[in-house]
Amino acid sequence: MTPAEQTIFDSIYLPDGALGGQERLVPRPNSQAETPEGALMSSGSKCPRWKGGVVVRNNYRYIFLPQHPRVDNNGYVREHILVAERALGEFLKDDEVVHHLNEDTLDNRQENLMVCESEAVHQIIHRRARAFYACGNPDWLRCILCKKHDDPEKMYVRIYRDGRCCWGRHRKCHAESEKQRSKVKALCLHFN
Ligand SMILES: [Zn+2]
Ligand SMILES: [Zn+2]
Repeated sequence: MTPAEQTIFDSIYLPDGALGGQERLVPRPNSQAETPEGALMSSGSKCPRWKGGVVVRNNYRYIFLPQHPRVDNNGYVREHILVAERALGEFLKDDEVVHHLNEDTLDNRQENLMVCESEAVHQIIHRRARAFYACGNPDWLRCILCKKHDDPEKMYVRIYRDGRCCWGRHRKCHAESEKQRSKVKALCLHFN
C-alpha cells in the first residue's frame, strides 16, 4: 500500500476494532436478526452524521463507509470485504475476490471467508464445490448436454486461457446431439 492508502486504511480499521471511527464490525451468521444492531455492535448510531449504516441488497450486506476505495455510488461497501481486509491488515488488491466457504453470502464471519487471487480462481472453487456436492468428486465436470457430472476423461472439454472450464460435454452426448442436428437438417432440406 502507498502511504496515502495506508492513511485511509488506518482511518477505517481502527485498532480497537471500531470501523471508520463510528462502528464496530461484528459479523454474524445469517440466522441472526437483520438489523443494524444485529450486524454491528453500535457505538455511533446516535452520531448526527449517522446514515443508517447497514443495508442488505441482493443477498449481500453493505456498510456505509464512503471513504473506502471499493464503495458503490451510494457510499456503501460489502461487509465481507471489510472483514477480509481487517484480517489481512491491508486493502484487497484490485483482482482479489472474497469467497464465502458455505456459499451463504450473508455469513460474513471471518472463518467463512477466503480471499481468491482472481475471479477466475473464484469460479474454479465454485465449480469444484458444486461437483463435490453433486457427485462427491471435485474433479468431475457437469456435461452441458445431459447435465450429469462425470469423469472429464469421457468428455470433450474446453478450457479458457485463464484456467476456467468453459464447458464439458460427454463424447456420447455430443455424438447424439450431432445425430439429432443432422436429422433436423435433413428434414429441413426435405421440406425446402
Ligand atoms: Zn464464492
Ligand atoms: Zn452428457
